[in-house]
Amino acid sequence: MDLDFSPQDAAFRDEARAFLAESYPKALREKQRNEEALTKEDYFSWHRVLAAKGWSAPSWPKEWGGTGWTPTQKYIWSEELARADAIPVLPFGVAMLGPVLYTFGTEEQKARFLPGIRDGLVWWCQGYSEPGAGSDLASLNTRAERIAGDDGKEYYLVNGQKTWTTLAQYADWGFFLVRTDPAVKPQAGISFLLIDMTSPGVTVRPIVTLEGGHEVNDVFLDNVKVPVENRIFHENQGWTCAKALLQHERSGIAGVARSKRGLERLRQMARTELADDSGPLIADPFFRRKVADLEIDLTALEYTELRTLAGESSGRGPGPESSILKIKGTEIQQRLSELALEAAGHYGAPYLRGLPHNAGAIGPDAAHGVAGVYFNTRKTSIYGGSNEIQRNIIAKLVLGL
Ligand SMILES: Cc1cc2nc3c(=O)[nH]c(=O)nc-3n(C[C@H](O)[C@H](O)[C@H](O)COP(=O)(O)OP(=O)(O)OC[C@H]3O[C@@H](n4cnc5c(N)ncnc54)[C@H](O)[C@@H]3O)c2cc1C
Repeated sequence: MDLDFSPQDAAFRDEARAFLAESYPKALREKQRNEEALTKEDYFSWHRVLAAKGWSAPSWPKEWGGTGWTPTQKYIWSEELARADAIPVLPFGVAMLGPVLYTFGTEEQKARFLPGIRDGLVWWCQGYSEPGAGSDLASLNTRAERIAGDDGKEYYLVNGQKTWTTLAQYADWGFFLVRTDPAVKPQAGISFLLIDMTSPGVTVRPIVTLEGGHEVNDVFLDNVKVPVENRIFHENQGWTCAKALLQHERSGIAGVARSKRGLERLRQMARTELADDSGPLIADPFFRRKVADLEIDLTALEYTELRTLAGESSGRGPGPESSILKIKGTEIQQRLSELALEAAGHYGAPYLRGLPHNAGAIGPDAAHGVAGVYFNTRKTSIYGGSNEIQRNIIAKLVLGL
């Protein structure tokens, strides 16, 4: 594996860096700096800048707007995004549903849904988990029964509850796993449906998480009528789509580039002299050792990701190895947030997110918001399939146990 960038890759990095410096919306950067919560319009404003450049869905086939970048270019792009502290394009449309649509959808479905995802016009949410079905997703209970509509068309009548549905409060549409045949073995009776979130019978109820944020929701489906033409792939074969999507979800979760940026910020904060005369924390050998251990693990993960990318270049897609990236990536994100809290010391304690310019905050700027990030990051080892479940996958499919 050659780790030096080719002259073409170096030129691409310069282009990406210049584009980000020029085009990342200033209003968005200001909001991030003030730790203000981002709105649907904020996310879409950046998405649309990327779409105008043709860079909003790099991994898609070229005919639907993909960039045709090499895996190395994709890696460089994620590094540059993190370096510029740019918010990511949300994964639900571009990274999750998009590949399902262009792999399993009909030509009509692709033409109907892919452009809205690519161009940042339609917000999607993921309706997989239920109160009784998370790790054991195939046991899901939301029922979809075929009925004839008054208009002569066929519909599914959907009833059930989804939970932990991220940012469903903004969603125009959702992709849902529903049970269409309760009589067969669980995986064989599931279908993959696209549901308009404004349909009568859809109710979104907020779940407020540890740090006080509203990121996840319960979604209730009460006699929701969904046209049969909104089903992707065959009836009762939605599990095939569900599994394909999860693998894309997991490899994206590793977040190596963002953790590298987080490590830089941690170092900066640990070099800051706090007001209690104890000197900068970076002078403490025990703390330095923890930072060094983290950096070693992050570097090892980066090389694992590069190896996966090299595999992709030679035609191997993300396989069960994406579980390794998910476990290590999320553990590193959690350790990073723990060390940031330690470095902030008592300045990290007040939780002021949402107030303009962190009104009333004291101590170094870098310390504000670290408590919120610490609490929020607890989720990373749970979502996208918990880390325990990823270990089971590795034991079975990688180690052959
Ligand atoms: C912040 C957040 C956002 C999310 N966003 C979405 C979303 O947008 N859409 C969506 O559909 N879902 C979403 N999820 C749900 C997520 O996928 C589930 O939480 C996850 O799959 C775990 O399921 P569960 O919460 O039901 O826990 P459970 O499955 O009940 O697991 C509880 C505990 O038991 C362990 N466990 C379970 N089975 C095994 C086993 N066989 N071996 C070893 N250990 C096991 C688990 O690791 C876990 O620690 C989100 C979750 C969170 C926290």
